[in-house]
Amino acid sequence: MERVLKNLHLYPDGNAFYLKRKLAETLYLDPANLILGNGSNEIIEMVGHAFLNPDAEVVVSEYCFAVYPIVTALFGAKLVTVPARRFGADVAGLIRAITPRTKVLFLANPNNPTGTLASHGEITQLLAEVPPHVLIVMDEAYVEFLEDPADCLALVRLEAQPNLLLMRTFSKIFGLAGLRLGYGVAVPSLIAALEKIRQPFNINAIAQAGALGALEDAEHIARTRSNNRQGLEYLHTALSQMGLEHVPSYANFVLVRVGDGVRVFADLQRLGVITRPMASYGLPEWLRISVGKPAENHRCLVSLRQVLGK
Ligand code: PMP
Repeated sequence: MERVLKNLHLYPDGNAFYLKRKLAETLYLDPANLILGNGSNEIIEMVGHAFLNPDAEVVVSEYCFAVYPIVTALFGAKLVTVPARRFGADVAGLIRAITPRTKVLFLANPNNPTGTLASHGEITQLLAEVPPHVLIVMDEAYVEFLEDPADCLALVRLEAQPNLLLMRTFSKIFGLAGLRLGYGVAVPSLIAALEKIRQPFNINAIAQAGALGALEDAEHIARTRSNNRQGLEYLHTALSQMGLEHVPSYANFVLVRVGDGVRVFADLQRLGVITRPMASYGLPEWLRISVGKPAENHRCLVSLRQVLGK
């Protein structure tokens, strides 16, 4: 990244040739299977541009990632929200909610903010039963944290699922949220449709250089995965000991019920600990706590005990 700073008077490579080639090699795909976005948020917006209009319906689960409803509203489409089951997606319910007007089904696996995971069987059912006129957007922002992820990339490699778009990001396990880089994975014809509405220089030169470096840094990924596993275990155990209801998480955060979420959030912030209140997700009694380093996790829990008087 420092090396490219000298050349910032030049436009970036609009096709990110080297980054796409490296990413394709890493994932055993072809560069034609990949589209890059300014964060995976931009890929979600591209889906809106390419597929949504006021006649379209979009199927999501209750407590889904907030950007899906936002992009649905942006394009005037109708949001169909399927009630969650124990905070996770009701996959059979999502399938039942599809109509001839449904254009897109969004599912984050694991999901933000609940940390819930659909099982391999549920993913297989979803891929088999969603009709071909519906684009399945499987958001795998947190997939690298999983011990045993469902291998959806194989379906793209085999061109077995033309209506599947996988989304991933450098913001989570790679620790590069500030760079803004995400990507979509799909069969070449679907990628070509999204490429038509991509801004020509959406991935800046620093991000391209940083991501190329990050893909070589297997040690960072292993260390972060292990830190997250231990952090989740620590938080789950401590929250149980405090008698706080929480949702067992497969991501890098935990959703916990604290009472008045906004008040507890504000009290924690005064102690220098930033969490995320969940009222905007219809969960006013809940906070989302991100896994940090061990000392940060400890500090967060000490502060939470203090604020809750536990
Ligand atoms: N999808 C999910 C499920 C997320 O939680 C996030 C980040 N909060 C994103 C997509 C977007 O990530 P980014 O734009 O940083 O790649």
